Amino acid sequence: MHQHICPHCRNASVPNLAVRWSSRESPAECTACGQLSHVVSSTSSGIWVFGVLLVVASGIAALVTQSLWVGLAGLALMVACNVCAWQRTELWPISKTDARTANKVGWWAAIGAWVVALFVN
Ligand SMILES: [Zn+2]
Repeated sequence: MHQHICPHCRNASVPNLAVRWSSRESPAECTACGQLSHVVSSTSSGIWVFGVLLVVASGIAALVTQSLWVGLAGLALMVACNVCAWQRTELWPISKTDARTANKVGWWAAIGAWVVALFVN
């Protein structure tokens, strides 16, 4: 399985799956040095948007050509691009205290948005 390069110790020891779900609020942990790192949110959302666009495009192509194979080829392309893009992503180092603060801020932002939503409705 592909492992990502840790920005702290330069070992390829950050699990792929942890990187995929990592953010400032919940960073991935290096299995070699135990330090935290995360992908930039613009990168992960960019990959996500690109994936959705490819799925939509292959869906349209399948409808136009009336061929399931075109749609499947589009999906295969999407998966390949997704895997490739994730392997190229750079990790950003984050300290444990920063991650804890970001997590707290994230929670307060979520609670704040919830309260605002209650009052707006
Ligand atoms: Zn490390």
